[in-house]
Amino acid sequence: MTMDYDDRYFHGKPQNSFHKAMNIPDVVVFPRSQEEVSKIVKSCNEHKVPIVPYGGATSIEGHTLSPNGGICIDMTQMKNIKSLNLEDMDVVVEPGIGWMELNEHLEPYGLFFPLDPGPGATIGGMCATRCSGSLAVRYGTMRDNVINLKVVLANGDIVKTGSRARKSAAGYDLTRLMIGSEGTLGVITEVTLRLQKIPQYSVVAMCNFPTIKDAADVAIATMMSGIQVSRVELMDEVQVRAINLANGKNLPEVPTLMFEFIGTEAYAREQTLIVQKIASEHNGSDFVFAEDSEAKKELWKIRKEALWACFAMKPNFEAMITDVCVPLSRLAELISTSKQELDSSSLVCTVIAHAGDGNFHTVILFEPDQEEQRKEGERLNHFMVHTALAMEAGTCTGEHGVGTGKMKVLLLNLLRLLALLTH
Ligand SMILES: Cc1cc2nc3c(=O)[nH]c(=O)nc-3n(C[C@H](O)[C@H](O)[C@H](O)COP(=O)(O)OP(=O)(O)OC[C@H]3O[C@@H](n4cnc5c(N)ncnc54)[C@H](O)[C@@H]3O)c2cc1C
Repeated sequence: MTMDYDDRYFHGKPQNSFHKAMNIPDVVVFPRSQEEVSKIVKSCNEHKVPIVPYGGATSIEGHTLSPNGGICIDMTQMKNIKSLNLEDMDVVVEPGIGWMELNEHLEPYGLFFPLDPGPGATIGGMCATRCSGSLAVRYGTMRDNVINLKVVLANGDIVKTGSRARKSAAGYDLTRLMIGSEGTLGVITEVTLRLQKIPQYSVVAMCNFPTIKDAADVAIATMMSGIQVSRVELMDEVQVRAINLANGKNLPEVPTLMFEFIGTEAYAREQTLIVQKIASEHNGSDFVFAEDSEAKKELWKIRKEALWACFAMKPNFEAMITDVCVPLSRLAELISTSKQELDSSSLVCTVIAHAGDGNFHTVILFEPDQEEQRKEGERLNHFMVHTALAMEAGTCTGEHGVGTGKMKVLLLNLLRLLALLTH
Protein backbone atom coordinates (compact mmCIF):
# COMPACT_ATOMS: atom_id res chain seq x y z
CA MET A 1 0.00 0.00 0.00
CA THR A 2 1.22 3.53 -0.67
CA MET A 3 0.09 7.07 0.09
CA ASP A 4 3.13 8.55 -1.63
CA TYR A 5 2.03 11.51 -3.79
CA ASP A 6 4.05 10.49 -6.86
CA ASP A 7 2.59 6.96 -6.84
CA ARG A 8 -0.93 8.28 -6.37
CA TYR A 9 -0.42 10.88 -9.09
CA PHE A 10 0.96 8.24 -11.47
CA HIS A 11 -2.02 5.94 -10.89
CA GLY A 12 -4.51 8.83 -11.16
CA LYS A 13 -3.29 10.34 -14.39
CA PRO A 14 -4.29 8.99 -17.80
CA GLN A 15 -1.46 7.00 -19.41
CA ASN A 16 -2.94 6.45 -22.85
CA SER A 17 -5.95 8.71 -23.01
CA PHE A 18 -6.50 12.40 -23.58
CA HIS A 19 -9.06 12.69 -20.79
CA LYS A 20 -8.16 15.04 -17.96
CA ALA A 21 -7.67 13.80 -14.37
CA MET A 22 -9.87 15.81 -11.99
CA ASN A 23 -8.56 14.03 -8.91
CA ILE A 24 -6.13 11.30 -7.85
CA PRO A 25 -6.62 8.26 -5.60
CA ASP A 26 -6.09 8.76 -1.87
CA VAL A 27 -4.34 5.41 -1.55
CA VAL A 28 -2.91 2.83 -3.96
CA VAL A 29 -2.94 -0.81 -2.85
CA PHE A 30 -1.17 -3.78 -4.43
CA PRO A 31 -2.99 -6.97 -3.35
CA ARG A 32 -1.23 -10.30 -3.77
CA SER A 33 -4.19 -12.64 -3.36
CA GLN A 34 -7.93 -12.90 -3.87
CA GLU A 35 -8.42 -12.87 -0.09
CA GLU A 36 -6.58 -9.55 0.18
CA VAL A 37 -8.75 -8.09 -2.61
CA SER A 38 -11.84 -9.29 -0.76
CA LYS A 39 -10.73 -7.65 2.52
CA ILE A 40 -9.96 -4.34 0.75
CA VAL A 41 -13.29 -4.26 -1.09
CA LYS A 42 -15.27 -5.27 2.00
CA SER A 43 -13.70 -2.50 4.03
CA CYS A 44 -14.27 0.08 1.23
CA ASN A 45 -17.91 -1.00 1.08
CA GLU A 46 -18.32 -0.55 4.84
CA HIS A 47 -16.75 2.92 4.78
CA LYS A 48 -18.30 3.93 1.41
CA VAL A 49 -14.92 4.56 -0.19
CA PRO A 50 -14.77 4.48 -4.02
CA ILE A 51 -12.53 1.84 -5.63
CA VAL A 52 -10.90 1.70 -9.07
CA PRO A 53 -9.28 -1.58 -10.20
CA TYR A 54 -6.12 -0.94 -12.20
CA GLY A 55 -4.37 -3.24 -14.70
CA GLY A 56 -1.97 -2.21 -17.47
CA ALA A 57 -3.51 1.30 -17.76
CA THR A 58 -3.56 1.01 -21.56
CA SER A 59 -7.29 1.75 -21.79
CA ILE A 60 -8.17 4.70 -23.95
CA GLU A 61 -11.26 6.32 -22.42
CA GLY A 62 -10.02 7.49 -19.02
CA HIS A 63 -11.09 4.18 -17.47
CA THR A 64 -8.55 4.19 -14.67
CA LEU A 65 -9.10 7.76 -13.50
CA SER A 66 -10.24 8.33 -9.90
CA PRO A 67 -12.66 11.28 -10.19
CA ASN A 68 -13.78 10.78 -6.57
CA GLY A 69 -10.42 9.83 -5.08
CA GLY A 70 -10.68 6.66 -3.01
CA ILE A 71 -8.63 3.49 -3.44
CA CYS A 72 -6.84 2.41 -6.59
CA ILE A 73 -6.46 -1.39 -6.54
CA ASP A 74 -3.38 -2.08 -8.66
CA MET A 75 -3.72 -5.74 -9.69
CA THR A 76 -0.31 -6.14 -11.31
CA GLN A 77 1.21 -8.09 -8.39
CA MET A 78 -1.31 -10.88 -9.03
CA LYS A 79 0.22 -12.33 -12.18
CA ASN A 80 0.65 -16.05 -11.55
CA ILE A 81 -0.23 -18.75 -14.03
CA LYS A 82 -2.21 -21.10 -11.78
CA SER A 83 -2.61 -24.03 -14.17
CA LEU A 84 -1.97 -24.75 -17.81
CA ASN A 85 -4.22 -27.54 -19.07
CA LEU A 86 -2.62 -28.61 -22.31
CA GLU A 87 -5.14 -31.28 -23.25
CA ASP A 88 -8.05 -28.93 -22.61
CA MET A 89 -6.27 -26.04 -24.35
CA ASP A 90 -7.04 -23.67 -21.49
CA VAL A 91 -5.11 -21.78 -18.84
CA VAL A 92 -6.07 -20.39 -15.42
CA VAL A 93 -4.33 -17.09 -14.60
CA GLU A 94 -4.38 -14.25 -12.14
CA PRO A 95 -5.62 -11.00 -13.70
CA GLY A 96 -2.41 -8.97 -13.51
CA ILE A 97 -0.54 -11.02 -16.10
CA GLY A 98 -0.08 -9.29 -19.47
CA TRP A 99 -1.20 -10.94 -22.71
CA MET A 100 2.33 -10.61 -24.07
CA GLU A 101 3.93 -12.27 -21.02
CA LEU A 102 1.31 -15.02 -21.19
CA ASN A 103 2.09 -15.67 -24.85
CA GLU A 104 5.82 -15.88 -24.12
CA HIS A 105 5.03 -18.56 -21.55
CA LEU A 106 2.71 -20.46 -23.94
CA GLU A 107 4.93 -20.41 -27.03
CA PRO A 108 7.06 -23.49 -26.14
CA TYR A 109 3.80 -25.48 -25.88
CA GLY A 110 2.72 -24.43 -29.39
CA LEU A 111 -0.22 -22.49 -27.95
CA PHE A 112 -1.21 -18.83 -27.74
CA PHE A 113 -3.95 -16.51 -26.50
CA PRO A 114 -5.30 -14.63 -29.53
CA LEU A 115 -6.44 -11.26 -28.17
CA ASP A 116 -3.90 -8.49 -28.75
CA PRO A 117 -4.96 -5.04 -27.47
CA GLY A 118 -2.38 -2.42 -26.38
CA PRO A 119 1.12 -3.64 -25.47
CA GLY A 120 1.15 -3.83 -21.65
CA ALA A 121 -2.57 -4.65 -21.25
CA THR A 122 -3.38 -7.23 -18.55
CA ILE A 123 -5.83 -10.11 -18.76
CA GLY A 124 -8.00 -8.55 -15.98
CA GLY A 125 -8.21 -5.21 -17.78
CA MET A 126 -8.89 -7.00 -21.07
CA CYS A 127 -11.82 -8.87 -19.48
CA ALA A 128 -13.10 -5.67 -17.90
CA THR A 129 -13.07 -3.77 -21.22
CA ARG A 130 -14.27 -6.70 -23.38
CA CYS A 131 -11.34 -5.93 -25.65
CA SER A 132 -10.59 -7.21 -29.15
CA GLY A 133 -7.58 -6.55 -31.35
CA SER A 134 -6.38 -7.46 -34.79
CA LEU A 135 -7.11 -11.20 -34.41
CA ALA A 136 -10.73 -10.82 -33.28
CA VAL A 137 -11.89 -11.21 -36.88
CA ARG A 138 -10.78 -14.84 -36.67
CA TYR A 139 -10.98 -15.75 -32.97
CA GLY A 140 -13.69 -13.45 -31.61
CA THR A 141 -13.41 -10.90 -28.79
CA MET A 142 -12.70 -11.35 -25.07
CA ARG A 143 -16.37 -12.32 -24.73
CA ASP A 144 -15.69 -15.47 -26.77
CA ASN A 145 -12.40 -16.46 -25.20
CA VAL A 146 -13.05 -16.43 -21.46
CA ILE A 147 -14.39 -19.66 -19.98
CA ASN A 148 -14.71 -18.77 -16.32
CA LEU A 149 -13.97 -16.00 -13.83
CA LYS A 150 -13.53 -15.52 -10.12
CA VAL A 151 -14.72 -12.10 -9.02
CA VAL A 152 -14.79 -10.17 -5.75
CA LEU A 153 -18.17 -8.45 -5.61
CA ALA A 154 -18.78 -4.99 -4.13
CA ASN A 155 -19.55 -6.41 -0.65
CA GLY A 156 -16.35 -8.49 -0.63
CA ASP A 157 -18.00 -11.83 -1.48
CA ILE A 158 -16.07 -14.05 -3.88
CA VAL A 159 -18.01 -15.65 -6.74
CA LYS A 160 -17.09 -18.11 -9.45
CA THR A 161 -19.05 -17.51 -12.66
CA GLY A 162 -18.82 -20.98 -14.21
CA SER A 163 -16.76 -24.14 -14.49
CA ARG A 164 -13.90 -25.13 -16.80
CA ALA A 165 -16.31 -26.82 -19.22
CA ARG A 166 -16.08 -25.23 -22.68
CA LYS A 167 -19.81 -24.66 -22.77
CA SER A 168 -22.67 -24.69 -20.32
CA ALA A 169 -26.39 -24.08 -20.55
CA ALA A 170 -26.85 -24.08 -16.79
CA GLY A 171 -28.63 -20.83 -16.03
CA TYR A 172 -27.56 -17.22 -16.34
CA ASP A 173 -24.29 -16.44 -18.10
CA LEU A 174 -22.52 -14.55 -15.31
CA THR A 175 -19.16 -14.71 -17.10
CA ARG A 176 -20.50 -12.63 -19.98
CA LEU A 177 -22.09 -10.18 -17.52
CA MET A 178 -18.70 -9.48 -15.97
CA ILE A 179 -16.88 -9.23 -19.32
CA GLY A 180 -17.03 -5.54 -20.26
CA SER A 181 -18.24 -4.37 -16.84
CA GLU A 182 -15.16 -2.09 -16.47
CA GLY A 183 -14.75 -2.69 -12.74
CA THR A 184 -18.30 -1.57 -11.94
CA LEU A 185 -19.59 -5.00 -10.85
CA GLY A 186 -16.55 -6.42 -9.13
CA VAL A 187 -12.81 -7.02 -9.18
CA ILE A 188 -11.73 -9.96 -11.33
CA THR A 189 -9.24 -12.11 -9.43
CA GLU A 190 -8.92 -15.24 -11.61
CA VAL A 191 -9.53 -15.93 -15.30
CA THR A 192 -9.77 -19.19 -17.26
CA LEU A 193 -8.90 -18.58 -20.91
CA ARG A 194 -9.46 -20.63 -24.03
CA LEU A 195 -6.18 -21.10 -25.94
CA GLN A 196 -5.42 -21.64 -29.63
CA LYS A 197 -2.79 -23.64 -31.47
CA ILE A 198 -0.04 -21.49 -33.03
CA PRO A 199 -0.74 -21.77 -36.77
CA GLN A 200 1.57 -24.04 -38.71
CA TYR A 201 2.20 -21.38 -41.34
CA SER A 202 1.29 -17.78 -42.03
CA VAL A 203 1.64 -15.22 -44.77
CA VAL A 204 1.39 -11.46 -44.21
CA ALA A 205 0.33 -9.49 -47.29
CA MET A 206 0.11 -5.75 -47.96
CA CYS A 207 -1.67 -3.96 -50.76
CA ASN A 208 -2.12 -0.30 -51.76
CA PHE A 209 -5.24 1.48 -52.98
CA PRO A 210 -6.04 4.86 -54.57
CA THR A 211 -8.87 5.55 -52.08
CA ILE A 212 -9.84 4.40 -48.61
CA LYS A 213 -13.19 3.23 -50.01
CA ASP A 214 -11.43 0.83 -52.41
CA ALA A 215 -9.46 -0.60 -49.47
CA ALA A 216 -12.61 -1.00 -47.34
CA ASP A 217 -14.44 -2.60 -50.29
CA VAL A 218 -11.67 -5.22 -50.56
CA ALA A 219 -11.87 -5.98 -46.83
CA ILE A 220 -15.62 -6.56 -47.23
CA ALA A 221 -15.24 -8.63 -50.43
CA THR A 222 -12.58 -10.77 -48.73
CA MET A 223 -14.85 -11.52 -45.78
CA MET A 224 -17.74 -12.26 -48.18
CA SER A 225 -15.54 -14.69 -50.14
CA GLY A 226 -15.56 -16.96 -47.08
CA ILE A 227 -11.79 -16.88 -46.65
CA GLN A 228 -11.02 -17.12 -42.95
CA VAL A 229 -8.39 -14.39 -42.73
CA SER A 230 -6.82 -14.04 -39.32
CA ARG A 231 -6.24 -10.31 -39.72
CA VAL A 232 -7.46 -7.54 -42.06
CA GLU A 233 -6.15 -4.16 -40.97
CA LEU A 234 -6.61 -0.92 -42.88
CA MET A 235 -4.55 2.26 -42.60
CA ASP A 236 -5.02 5.53 -44.46
CA GLU A 237 -2.17 7.45 -46.09
CA VAL A 238 -1.67 9.72 -43.03
CA GLN A 239 -1.24 6.72 -40.72
CA VAL A 240 1.28 5.18 -43.13
CA ARG A 241 3.18 8.50 -43.14
CA ALA A 242 3.30 8.39 -39.33
CA ILE A 243 4.62 4.82 -39.43
CA ASN A 244 7.30 5.77 -41.95
CA LEU A 245 8.42 8.69 -39.79
CA ALA A 246 8.42 6.73 -36.52
CA ASN A 247 10.10 3.61 -37.86
CA GLY A 248 12.37 4.93 -40.62
CA LYS A 249 10.32 3.04 -43.23
CA ASN A 250 9.57 3.89 -46.82
CA LEU A 251 6.09 2.41 -47.31
CA PRO A 252 3.97 3.98 -50.10
CA GLU A 253 1.88 6.71 -48.42
CA VAL A 254 -1.52 5.62 -49.72
CA PRO A 255 -4.46 3.70 -48.18
CA THR A 256 -3.10 0.26 -47.33
CA LEU A 257 -4.54 -3.09 -46.29
CA MET A 258 -2.55 -5.60 -44.23
CA PHE A 259 -3.71 -9.23 -44.20
CA GLU A 260 -2.64 -12.36 -42.41
CA PHE A 261 -3.50 -15.79 -43.77
CA ILE A 262 -2.89 -18.92 -41.73
CA GLY A 263 -3.09 -22.70 -42.07
CA THR A 264 -0.83 -25.11 -43.89
CA GLU A 265 1.76 -23.57 -46.21
CA ALA A 266 -0.26 -24.48 -49.30
CA TYR A 267 -3.55 -23.20 -47.83
CA ALA A 268 -2.07 -19.88 -46.61
CA ARG A 269 -0.57 -19.28 -50.08
CA GLU A 270 -3.80 -20.24 -51.83
CA GLN A 271 -5.76 -17.71 -49.73
CA THR A 272 -3.13 -15.06 -50.50
CA LEU A 273 -3.59 -15.55 -54.25
CA ILE A 274 -7.40 -15.39 -54.02
CA VAL A 275 -7.23 -12.12 -52.08
CA GLN A 276 -4.63 -10.74 -54.49
CA LYS A 277 -7.18 -11.29 -57.27
CA ILE A 278 -9.96 -9.60 -55.23
CA ALA A 279 -7.65 -6.63 -54.58
CA SER A 280 -6.75 -6.26 -58.26
CA GLU A 281 -10.47 -6.11 -59.11
CA HIS A 282 -10.78 -3.10 -56.75
CA ASN A 283 -7.86 -0.98 -58.01
CA GLY A 284 -5.36 -2.61 -55.62
CA SER A 285 -1.68 -2.44 -56.57
CA ASP A 286 1.79 -3.37 -55.26
CA PHE A 287 0.53 -6.57 -53.60
CA VAL A 288 3.53 -7.79 -51.59
CA PHE A 289 3.81 -10.55 -49.02
CA ALA A 290 6.18 -11.68 -46.29
CA GLU A 291 6.80 -15.24 -45.14
CA ASP A 292 9.98 -14.74 -43.11
CA SER A 293 9.03 -14.89 -39.43
CA GLU A 294 11.12 -11.86 -38.32
CA ALA A 295 9.72 -9.71 -41.14
CA LYS A 296 6.15 -10.73 -40.19
CA LYS A 297 6.75 -10.02 -36.51
CA GLU A 298 8.16 -6.59 -37.32
CA LEU A 299 5.16 -5.69 -39.53
CA TRP A 300 2.65 -6.55 -36.77
CA LYS A 301 4.73 -4.77 -34.14
CA ILE A 302 4.71 -1.63 -36.28
CA ARG A 303 0.95 -1.95 -36.76
CA LYS A 304 0.36 -2.55 -33.01
CA GLU A 305 2.34 0.57 -32.16
CA ALA A 306 0.61 2.68 -34.85
CA LEU A 307 -0.98 4.93 -32.21
CA TRP A 308 2.37 5.90 -30.74
CA ALA A 309 3.81 6.39 -34.26
CA CYS A 310 1.37 9.30 -34.72
CA PHE A 311 3.36 11.36 -32.22
CA ALA A 312 6.31 11.29 -34.65
CA MET A 313 4.25 13.70 -36.80
CA LYS A 314 3.29 15.98 -33.88
CA PRO A 315 5.56 15.25 -30.89
CA ASN A 316 3.93 17.40 -28.19
CA PHE A 317 0.34 16.81 -29.17
CA GLU A 318 -2.29 14.60 -27.55
CA ALA A 319 -4.34 11.95 -29.32
CA MET A 320 -8.12 11.71 -29.26
CA ILE A 321 -8.98 8.20 -30.42
CA THR A 322 -12.37 7.25 -31.84
CA ASP A 323 -13.79 3.72 -32.02
CA VAL A 324 -17.02 3.40 -34.01
CA CYS A 325 -18.17 0.03 -35.32
CA VAL A 326 -20.88 -0.80 -37.87
CA PRO A 327 -22.11 -3.91 -39.64
CA LEU A 328 -19.49 -4.87 -42.21
CA SER A 329 -21.66 -3.90 -45.19
CA ARG A 330 -21.72 -0.25 -43.98
CA LEU A 331 -17.98 0.07 -43.30
CA ALA A 332 -16.88 1.50 -46.68
CA GLU A 333 -19.62 4.13 -46.58
CA LEU A 334 -18.84 5.14 -42.98
CA ILE A 335 -15.09 5.29 -43.52
CA SER A 336 -15.32 7.37 -46.69
CA THR A 337 -17.86 9.81 -45.22
CA SER A 338 -15.69 10.18 -42.10
CA LYS A 339 -12.52 10.56 -44.15
CA GLN A 340 -14.00 13.52 -46.07
CA GLU A 341 -14.79 15.24 -42.78
CA LEU A 342 -11.34 14.45 -41.33
CA ASP A 343 -9.50 15.68 -44.43
CA SER A 344 -11.34 18.99 -44.38
CA SER A 345 -10.44 19.59 -40.71
CA SER A 346 -7.51 21.77 -39.65
CA LEU A 347 -6.30 18.94 -37.36
CA VAL A 348 -4.04 16.06 -38.41
CA CYS A 349 -6.07 12.83 -38.26
CA THR A 350 -5.21 9.26 -39.15
CA VAL A 351 -7.46 6.25 -39.80
CA ILE A 352 -6.72 2.70 -38.58
CA ALA A 353 -9.36 -0.02 -38.94
CA HIS A 354 -9.94 -3.59 -37.86
CA ALA A 355 -11.66 -3.71 -41.22
CA GLY A 356 -12.87 -7.31 -41.09
CA ASP A 357 -14.96 -6.44 -38.01
CA GLY A 358 -16.43 -3.17 -39.36
CA ASN A 359 -14.53 -1.31 -36.61
CA PHE A 360 -12.28 1.70 -37.16
CA HIS A 361 -10.32 4.22 -35.15
CA THR A 362 -9.22 7.71 -36.00
CA VAL A 363 -6.34 9.29 -34.16
CA ILE A 364 -7.05 13.02 -33.94
CA LEU A 365 -3.96 15.00 -32.91
CA PHE A 366 -4.40 18.24 -30.98
CA GLU A 367 -2.40 20.58 -28.76
CA PRO A 368 -3.56 20.04 -25.17
CA ASP A 369 -3.52 23.76 -24.28
CA GLN A 370 -5.51 24.80 -27.37
CA GLU A 371 -9.18 24.60 -26.40
CA GLU A 372 -10.33 25.27 -29.99
CA GLN A 373 -8.40 22.24 -31.22
CA ARG A 374 -9.86 20.02 -28.49
CA LYS A 375 -13.34 21.22 -29.47
CA GLU A 376 -12.66 20.50 -33.15
CA GLY A 377 -11.50 16.98 -32.17
CA GLU A 378 -14.70 16.47 -30.20
CA ARG A 379 -16.76 17.72 -33.16
CA LEU A 380 -15.10 15.14 -35.44
CA ASN A 381 -15.58 12.43 -32.82
CA HIS A 382 -19.29 13.26 -32.48
CA PHE A 383 -19.69 13.40 -36.25
CA MET A 384 -18.45 9.81 -36.55
CA VAL A 385 -20.48 8.55 -33.59
CA HIS A 386 -23.67 10.15 -34.95
CA THR A 387 -23.02 8.84 -38.47
CA ALA A 388 -22.39 5.31 -37.13
CA LEU A 389 -25.49 5.41 -34.90
CA ALA A 390 -27.58 6.66 -37.80
CA MET A 391 -26.63 3.47 -39.64
CA GLU A 392 -29.21 1.57 -37.56
CA ALA A 393 -26.93 -0.92 -35.92
CA GLY A 394 -23.74 1.04 -35.28
CA THR A 395 -22.08 1.54 -31.90
CA CYS A 396 -20.01 4.35 -30.37
CA THR A 397 -17.40 1.85 -29.19
CA GLY A 398 -16.42 -1.38 -30.90
CA GLU A 399 -13.71 -2.39 -28.45
CA HIS A 400 -12.30 0.39 -26.25
CA GLY A 401 -15.29 0.60 -23.92
CA VAL A 402 -16.99 3.46 -22.12
CA GLY A 403 -14.63 4.59 -19.33
CA THR A 404 -15.26 8.11 -18.09
CA GLY A 405 -14.85 9.53 -21.60
CA LYS A 406 -17.75 7.88 -23.42
CA MET A 407 -20.42 8.11 -20.72
CA LYS A 408 -22.35 10.81 -22.59
CA VAL A 409 -22.21 9.06 -25.97
CA LEU A 410 -23.24 5.80 -24.31
CA LEU A 411 -26.48 7.53 -23.41
CA LEU A 412 -26.92 8.59 -27.05
CA ASN A 413 -26.14 5.04 -28.14
CA LEU A 414 -28.83 3.64 -25.82
CA LEU A 415 -31.40 6.29 -26.85
CA ARG A 416 -30.78 5.38 -30.48
CA LEU A 417 -31.40 1.69 -29.75
CA LEU A 418 -34.56 2.60 -27.85
CA ALA A 419 -35.80 4.69 -30.78
CA LEU A 420 -35.25 1.71 -33.10
CA LEU A 421 -37.24 -0.53 -30.76
CA THR A 422 -40.20 1.82 -30.60
CA HIS A 423 -40.49 2.27 -34.39
C1 LIG B 1 -1.20 1.29 -28.52
C2 LIG B 1 -2.54 0.75 -28.07
C3 LIG B 1 -3.21 -0.15 -28.90
C4 LIG B 1 -4.44 -0.65 -28.50
N1 LIG B 1 -5.06 -1.55 -29.33
C5 LIG B 1 -6.24 -2.08 -28.94
C6 LIG B 1 -6.90 -3.02 -29.78
O1 LIG B 1 -6.45 -3.35 -30.86
N2 LIG B 1 -8.08 -3.55 -29.33
C7 LIG B 1 -8.62 -3.20 -28.11
O2 LIG B 1 -9.70 -3.72 -27.76
N3 LIG B 1 -8.02 -2.30 -27.31
C8 LIG B 1 -6.86 -1.74 -27.69
N4 LIG B 1 -6.24 -0.84 -26.87
C9 LIG B 1 -6.88 -0.45 -25.59
C10 LIG B 1 -6.45 -1.25 -24.34
O3 LIG B 1 -5.23 -1.92 -24.56
C11 LIG B 1 -7.55 -2.22 -23.91
O4 LIG B 1 -8.69 -1.51 -23.52
C12 LIG B 1 -7.13 -3.18 -22.77
O5 LIG B 1 -8.10 -4.20 -22.69
C13 LIG B 1 -6.99 -2.53 -21.40
O6 LIG B 1 -6.34 -3.44 -20.51
P1 LIG B 1 -5.50 -2.88 -19.25
O7 LIG B 1 -4.94 -4.02 -18.50
O8 LIG B 1 -4.53 -1.87 -19.72
O9 LIG B 1 -6.67 -2.22 -18.41
P2 LIG B 1 -6.67 -0.85 -17.57
O10 LIG B 1 -6.47 0.28 -18.50
O11 LIG B 1 -5.77 -0.94 -16.42
O12 LIG B 1 -8.17 -0.85 -17.04
C14 LIG B 1 -9.25 -0.83 -17.93
C15 LIG B 1 -10.55 -0.99 -17.15
O13 LIG B 1 -10.58 -2.28 -16.57
C16 LIG B 1 -10.76 -2.19 -15.16
N5 LIG B 1 -9.97 -3.28 -14.58
C17 LIG B 1 -8.65 -3.51 -14.69
N6 LIG B 1 -8.32 -4.65 -14.04
C18 LIG B 1 -9.45 -5.13 -13.51
C19 LIG B 1 -9.77 -6.28 -12.72
N7 LIG B 1 -8.84 -7.17 -12.35
N8 LIG B 1 -11.05 -6.46 -12.34
C20 LIG B 1 -12.03 -5.59 -12.70
N9 LIG B 1 -11.78 -4.50 -13.44
C21 LIG B 1 -10.51 -4.29 -13.84
C22 LIG B 1 -10.29 -0.80 -14.78
O14 LIG B 1 -10.92 -0.33 -13.61
C23 LIG B 1 -10.72 -0.02 -16.01
O15 LIG B 1 -12.09 0.32 -15.92
C24 LIG B 1 -5.01 -0.27 -27.25
C25 LIG B 1 -4.33 0.64 -26.42
C26 LIG B 1 -3.11 1.15 -26.84
C27 LIG B 1 -2.39 2.09 -25.91
